Amino acid sequence: MERYQIKPGQKVSLKDWSPDPPRDFEGGKESARADVAELNRKLEVLQERLFAERRHKVLVILQGMDTSGKDGVIRSVFDGVNPQGVKVASFKVPTPEELDRDYLWRVHKVVPGRGEMVIFNRSHYEDVLVVRVHQLVPPEVWKKRYDQINEFERLLWETGTTILKFFLFISKEEQKQRLLERLADPAKHWKFNPGDLKERALWDEYEKAYEDVLSRTSTGYAPWYIVPADKKWYRDWVISRVLVETLENLNIQVPPPLEDAETYRRQLLEEDERVSP
Ligand code: AMP
Ligand code: MG
Repeated sequence: MERYQIKPGQKVSLKDWSPDPPRDFEGGKESARADVAELNRKLEVLQERLFAERRHKVLVILQGMDTSGKDGVIRSVFDGVNPQGVKVASFKVPTPEELDRDYLWRVHKVVPGRGEMVIFNRSHYEDVLVVRVHQLVPPEVWKKRYDQINEFERLLWETGTTILKFFLFISKEEQKQRLLERLADPAKHWKFNPGDLKERALWDEYEKAYEDVLSRTSTGYAPWYIVPADKKWYRDWVISRVLVETLENLNIQVPPPLEDAETYRRQLLEEDERVSP
């Protein structure tokens, strides 16, 4: 999965990247789906261990254009994982209360605690994406944010947080197909937001803003992955693999067995003897 990871300082130009699976990808859709099911089970076990150890904190950040599949990833990659140990935080247009504070305030409040995994559906990166594209603040304000974000993520990392950032890369053509699908099915109309067409018209500006994010904020402690996302099965496969491999490398240690388990066991068994003479 190294091939999708942006090295610190690497300059990203999206025209050099593909939203499609590699041509030589073995197995195709069926085998990728089967792998994801198996990775789901591994993730379930790893998440339970993470929770039991209560040491590491895991933050997964999902970014991408509208329809790129952020919700889909949450549904399929985390399928079967105990909802008590995984939280999702979705970042929408900031409320007046949030706008009165610095842009990291609402984010810092919901970072994972010990033993927790938190998935960000959008994130503080919106503050250098939509905010930049729509000129919601002047350039001198958003330009400072790359360094601020790197320092913020460094703080999280230095205090025990493993951070993974995924950019779900879709083509403009694929977005068109997905928007048309939503419009074709009345049951999916709720997913369609007329504003999505306005954002789509700004595609090139968003790509430029994403290139700067990927070039300036991929660090050794919080790397970005560019995930080819035109095929949902390949997108899920890449993210599941990165996640499971990263968690396996944390070498999570569950608490040691109880030394006095035998004493407790006997106590319980004696209780039975007392009630039935
Ligand atoms: P959705 O993800 O479809 O529910 O849409 C959430 C909307 O909130 C998107 O259009 C985002 O661009 C927008 N949004 C998220 N964070 C910010 C922010 N910091 N400033 C302005 N808009 C934001
Ligand atoms: Mg939307």
